Amino acid sequence: MPRILDGAAIAVAIKQEVAAEVKLLAAQGITPGLAAVLVGNVPASEIYVRSKVQACAELGIYSDLITPSDDITTEAMLDLIATLNSRNEIDGILVQLPLPRQVDAKVLLDAVSPFKDVDGFHPVNAGRLQAGRPALAPCTPAGVIEILRRSEISIAGQHAVVVGRSDIVGKPAAMLLLNQNATVTICHSKTRNLAEITRQADILVAAIGRPGFITPEMVKPGATLIDVGINRLNTREEFDRFFLGNAKREAAFAKRGSVIVGDIDPKAFELSGAYTPVPGGVGLLTIAMLMANTVRAAKMRRGL
Ligand code: NAP
Repeated sequence: MPRILDGAAIAVAIKQEVAAEVKLLAAQGITPGLAAVLVGNVPASEIYVRSKVQACAELGIYSDLITPSDDITTEAMLDLIATLNSRNEIDGILVQLPLPRQVDAKVLLDAVSPFKDVDGFHPVNAGRLQAGRPALAPCTPAGVIEILRRSEISIAGQHAVVVGRSDIVGKPAAMLLLNQNATVTICHSKTRNLAEITRQADILVAAIGRPGFITPEMVKPGATLIDVGINRLNTREEFDRFFLGNAKREAAFAKRGSVIVGDIDPKAFELSGAYTPVPGGVGLLTIAMLMANTVRAAKMRRGL
């Protein structure tokens, strides 16, 4: 039977450690602070940001939610970022993506101080990560490493195959695995003989954005499968493709009219040695790692 790598339990453990660190900092008169910038009224973004602000409250981290309207210009956003960069009670700046079309996201993310870049998207942090220096790493890939580490799945010497090369997930995940001494292969949409490569993976990380893309034939039996994908299935046909006869999922589909599946076909999990479920796996780590990065940024900025 494969091991299920329980993202919820690991997220709780990380949050408890962060809360303990916040207490230690409080004894020195320091309260870590996070500014969350939420532009416009994108419902999914509102839910994400609300969860992040709520996590701050639970852990004793100060938060400031800033909500510019969706007609804000790049220049006005740059002014806002400059203010946040200079505010001493703010240790982390989070700009919730996506941004409205008229705002140049790249210019904006590059304007965030690398010291306050708790999403780890700034080129300085990407470079530091690549150079193997201490860096604020992007939260989702950092969560992948925490899952492996805390589940005592060895990384050094293993062949890790990462499918997906986005700046937010695939590339930093590959870099973090390399820094942990895995032998890393990065695959993407132009990769030839993809299944041949994924079948060599001891650790397979899927960050593609396509429901159930990694099929059982693409997996080496006994491999560790890390599924970063979050894909919503809205139709009966899509649902049946993955979950026909699954009573628990059927109930969820009947209740909400949709269910979530990752980038790995759930049938492939049965072949694995261990896997992260969707939901209940990597997704739950992202906010915990954001909290951890905020405390880390607070300490780093003060030379602690
Ligand atoms: P993305 O920016 O769209 O990148 C997708 C990557 O997959 C690209 O590198 C693309 O290759 C590759 N790809 C697409 N089709 C492929 C194919 N047929 N064969 C091989 N590779 C293929 O997506 P992302 O932001 O990295 O997100 C990936 C997934 O993770 C999504 O499901 C997203 O919802 C999820 N996610 C979850 C969290 C979380 O858990 N909190 C956070 C972020 C993202 P090219 O570069 O060649 O186009």
